[in-house]
Amino acid sequence: MTIQLKDSSLLKTQAFIDGAWVDGDKGETFAVTDPATGQHLADVASVGADETRRAIAAADRAMIEWKALPAKSRSDVLEKWHQLIVDNTEDLAVIMTAEQGKTLAESRGEVAYGASFVKWFAEEGKRVYGDIIPTPSDRRGVVVKQPVGVVAAITPWNFPNAMITRKAGPALAVGCAIVLKPAAETPLSALALVELANRAGLPAGLFSVLPGMDAPAIGGEMTSNPTVKKVTFTGSTPVGKLLMKQCADTVKRTSMELGGNAPVIIFDDADLDLAIAGALTAKYRNSGQTCICANRLLVQEGIYDAFVEKFSAAVSEFRIGNGFEAATTHGPVITEKAAKEIHSKVQNAVEEGATVVIGGQPGEQGACFYQPTVLTNVTEDMRVFREEIFGPVAPVFKFSTEADAIRMANDTEFGLAAYVYTESMGRSWRVSEAVDYGMVGVNETAISSEVIPFGGVKESGQGREGSKYGLDDYLETKYICFGALQR
Ligand code: NAP
Repeated sequence: MTIQLKDSSLLKTQAFIDGAWVDGDKGETFAVTDPATGQHLADVASVGADETRRAIAAADRAMIEWKALPAKSRSDVLEKWHQLIVDNTEDLAVIMTAEQGKTLAESRGEVAYGASFVKWFAEEGKRVYGDIIPTPSDRRGVVVKQPVGVVAAITPWNFPNAMITRKAGPALAVGCAIVLKPAAETPLSALALVELANRAGLPAGLFSVLPGMDAPAIGGEMTSNPTVKKVTFTGSTPVGKLLMKQCADTVKRTSMELGGNAPVIIFDDADLDLAIAGALTAKYRNSGQTCICANRLLVQEGIYDAFVEKFSAAVSEFRIGNGFEAATTHGPVITEKAAKEIHSKVQNAVEEGATVVIGGQPGEQGACFYQPTVLTNVTEDMRVFREEIFGPVAPVFKFSTEADAIRMANDTEFGLAAYVYTESMGRSWRVSEAVDYGMVGVNETAISSEVIPFGGVKESGQGREGSKYGLDDYLETKYICFGALQR
């Protein structure tokens, strides 16, 4: 084991089911490795459908008392969990950098971001209001909001902490129990989080974590088991579609946070330095592996050359390397397979006429590294326009009119985040309203926080995480009719 922690008991390698640390029934394990070095970090228990079924049954039992508690009592447990996450930030960040590769500074930032959802929903869970509806006759309609039931969650590796807390936070706050399958690349962050929830006093069964290398077996049980009332997923669009189909047979509620293909539209009248700073963050954060990463930079012809020159000069200052080293600005991508996939998209663009301004090759630091890249002479039929790149590659497209920019931005099946840079008030409104995206940043790319409704439209998904709207995904609306009031 190579991860050095202040509190080594946060490094868990078993599954956490019904309040107990357990091995998988078959005794199987899978390896977790450091993408920066290729070093083996841990062997983690691998569970399958049977253990998932037991976790779901335990969740169903545990929910009976949990949902009957006053919201304040649930909130108190979540507040303790939040404090423990904050107190253990450094260890959680070290675990994350080791298994995911992002820089330690980014990991610390993600732990704070993840903790903010627990805090927010501890507070917001106390504000689940209903309605009283005057009806046309001698009756009153009362609307109450109740927990949806047992929630099953599946999360990705790119944000191994925050993608969990923004599901577990609201689910637990309103009285649901949750069973979670983390990504196979990053189970250690999930296991450390549930260890802290357990220390906070969360009763057994309310939050089980099911690491495993057979995702279809775990996901198959989660989506077919009638006790599960809601499946919440963050990950790729193809897997999201599959899970939605699987959920249809038992008519489960679903929330889907899926892939993106974000445009950054930069108009001639933009503040160029502001736009460059925003585009750099939006493109290269987490080495290009965020769902709201800038995938396509759309730059108006009047400032195109100046943009490319200044943007590329800034990219040339990046230092890729091991996320634990202070000089590193950008870490590896998650796997060698991912690095090869990124390179194949760059090669496709180059074969079809793109120019590599900077980068364009795998990194020399190891199998999981890819050079920060800027491409020009790119066209709309290239894979870098049509597909989510999920790596540190910035294709810079040229447009002439506002109408062109809107058409290009919307020419995708995705609709998660879009960004607009302009100094014109009118244009910022027009373009924000015309683009088909769930979220729009105007002169800003750092748009995420616990207080805003995060989510997409089109094939980027459905449902919202964070904000007051984030509770709705875990609540059912019940109408109660009070009649014969004059008796
Ligand atoms: P992925 O391949 O879809 O995997 C996500 C999760 O789904 C993992 O836990 C994976 O398990 C599991 N999974 C895979 N196949 C499954 C199946 N047949 N049944 C049940 N579970 C299954 O996505 P990823 O590559 O990890 O994540 C990147 C994607 O997530 C990108 O498209 C990104 O845009 C998207 N994302 C979206 C948001 C958002 O809020 N919209 C946020 C972050 C990321 P294994 O790891 O065991 O395979």
